[in-house]
Amino acid sequence: MKSFLLASGNAHKAEEFKELFLDGIQIQAAPRTLEVQETGKTFIENALIKAKAYAEIYKVPTLADDSGLVIEALPHILGVESARFAPELPLYSDKCQKLIEMMSGLSGDQRKAYFVCILCFYISEDEYYFFEGRVQGVIAHEQKGDKGFGYDPIFIPERSVADGKSLAELPEWKNEFSHRARAAKSSLEFFKESMDKTHQKS
Ligand code: IMP
Repeated sequence: MKSFLLASGNAHKAEEFKELFLDGIQIQAAPRTLEVQETGKTFIENALIKAKAYAEIYKVPTLADDSGLVIEALPHILGVESARFAPELPLYSDKCQKLIEMMSGLSGDQRKAYFVCILCFYISEDEYYFFEGRVQGVIAHEQKGDKGFGYDPIFIPERSVADGKSLAELPEWKNEFSHRARAAKSSLEFFKESMDKTHQKS
């Protein structure tokens, strides 16, 4: 089984990825968190910066993720800066409220948004792979639900526009279909296929 060091010292993230990759890819938590400046302008650039930084220090294949919320009507905020939005408001409930207020005049398609996750599997300077997962949806008019984290209470995925449930009210659905889960599934398929091909050749 392929093994990757997670380019993050966050034990919670390591557990989440271990679950997602249960039967295909082995994930190790990094012994400590490195101070990596996420200076990229895209999710791909930032995922590569993180994966490379850990690979250079620990000399093993690494896995990094970069994710965020993109709101179509607000293209200059969030995105790769999602974790750094409104630093004067440390609580996500306040950040969410601020976004609701910023979008108060918008309705229907004007509230479209998506979560995106990029995974970067870094094997060497000449071999690294990216996988992307997205969840499309709209920004709610109010916060709902107490599961999940971050912007989940204001994000209504497309599949539940009819009943208006936010991601923070859909933990089971999120486990299976989140942007992270979708990116992880694509990567698992890819590595399983490439291992099958290697076995066929040998
Ligand atoms: P990073 O990928 O750890 O840099 O985090 C990006 C930021 O995007 C997080 O701090 C959250 O603000 C937001 N984010 C990413 N994924 C999710 C999610 O599944 N739910 C809610 N917010 C998220």
